[in-house]
Amino acid sequence: MGLSFGKEGILAFRNSLALNGKAFIDGKSVDALSGETFGCISPRDGLEIARVASCNAADVDLAVAAARRAFEAGVWSARPPKERKKVMQRFADLFEQHLDELAVLESLDMGKPISESRNIDVALVLDTLRWYAECPDKLYDEIAPTGPDQLATVTREPVGVVAAVVPWNFPMLMAMWKIAPALASGNSIIVKPAEQSPLTAIRMAEIAHEAGIPAGVFNVVPGFGPTAGKALGLHMDVDCLVFTGSGEVGKLFLMYSGQSNMKRVYLECGGKSANIILDDVPDLRVAAERAATAICFNQGEVCVAPSRLVLSERIQDEFLEIVVETARAIRPGDPLDPETRIGALVDDTHRARVEHYIARGHEDGARLVLGGDRPDTNLGGYYVNPTIFTGVRNDMTIAREEIFGPVLSVITVRDDEEAVRVANDTPYGLAAAVWTRDLSRAHRISRRLRAGSVWVNCYDHGDATVPFGGYKQSGNGRDKSLHALDKYTELKTTWIEL
Ligand code: NAD
Repeated sequence: MGLSFGKEGILAFRNSLALNGKAFIDGKSVDALSGETFGCISPRDGLEIARVASCNAADVDLAVAAARRAFEAGVWSARPPKERKKVMQRFADLFEQHLDELAVLESLDMGKPISESRNIDVALVLDTLRWYAECPDKLYDEIAPTGPDQLATVTREPVGVVAAVVPWNFPMLMAMWKIAPALASGNSIIVKPAEQSPLTAIRMAEIAHEAGIPAGVFNVVPGFGPTAGKALGLHMDVDCLVFTGSGEVGKLFLMYSGQSNMKRVYLECGGKSANIILDDVPDLRVAAERAATAICFNQGEVCVAPSRLVLSERIQDEFLEIVVETARAIRPGDPLDPETRIGALVDDTHRARVEHYIARGHEDGARLVLGGDRPDTNLGGYYVNPTIFTGVRNDMTIAREEIFGPVLSVITVRDDEEAVRVANDTPYGLAAAVWTRDLSRAHRISRRLRAGSVWVNCYDHGDATVPFGGYKQSGNGRDKSLHALDKYTELKTTWIEL
């Protein structure tokens, strides 16, 4: 655990933090033009921790105008790549000085355990930022193989004004997966954080500004989806909209684009990932413990959560015994306690949604073998116990729809054919895993899985070097790696007759 202090120290540190809920537009912290605010509720105890600017279309207009001005002035877009790199590296250095603060803010705001926000979230955000900070002066353009009398160059140019609408489950990381490549390629950006978790995006914009990112280049407009989010989607002067969130809202952004300026829209949406355990799993205990910890990670509020355990019937008894025993030991607790391994769901509405799915599992005839209820934490807040259903059929609602909570559906299969068929029988295509000691078998199965990421003998591993995104209704385009830059750049052909 990176934080050098225990629970009491974390609480004291939390009390020392000034929580800023203002928008960040054109290099300044500002109120919404209307003066309206909304309460930022911590899922830890259900109490309000800050008032947040409730931005609407008028604030979005201001932010887009500032972003456009900065872009046209070339204060960032026309800066030599080497200089952009230096400023982004300074941004990363300053970010690194605030890791404890950002981790506490994240846990407070959306309920994840401090051990995860400090050891995983801020570490991955920093890794992403540093990786893209290195890019600007390392990317070369192309010369096309034309005839001897022509010279044709293919150059990448920033797309212009980018809007990023992001969710609450990894508020900083999902935002940074967009911010870093957008800035590295010279764009201006406006981030709309989820209304449930606005605080860290605001703080990141302040830090970026302090590091030397010019005014107007990185703006944050907190607010609600149907107001601030929709205004960005419909804006005539936003060139590219990148979104992470539910498929339902992703589809709205495709419509907003069609109703406005045909802006580029890239979507990272939900998942219903299959974690396939074959009968020759190399280490049954490791795989079973991982199946349990991965569905509890971030309270199950993970787009790649292994929510369908596709398990060989030959090893089901032994395997499930370990899964249940491991999950039973993961008790929900205070997100700010360094010992906590599963925190609070993001809000009351979301907990009701998760509980609705648990009830649906019962109704559809699945067998509850763990959880299904609320823990007795005495904290207030929005907690549920890790929950496991066995005897699930892939056509049941709990196997088809994204629950986004710590709810595992166990589906047993006879052979590889059935495993692949079940894994692919979903509208989603974000991720999958296969556990086997036979790498040829793993390769053959991996090639047949319709998913953007496939893990072999591990779950949810990766870093900034590999692309991330979905097939089918899990979205389009990719975050991370050099491939993400495709979203933030236009390709220009210049054809010269010599
Ligand atoms: P959501 O779709 O409800 O909200 C996402 C964002 O969209 C928020 O900022 C919200 O304010 C905004 N929004 C909501 N309604 C809108 C509207 N009518 N117009 C414009 N904007 C609107 O999603 P969520 O509940 O915040 O996040 C959970 C979802 O995110 C899950 O489906 C999860 O799988 C997905 N997710 C996907 C990935 C990925 O990389 N594929 C990563 C994390 C989360």
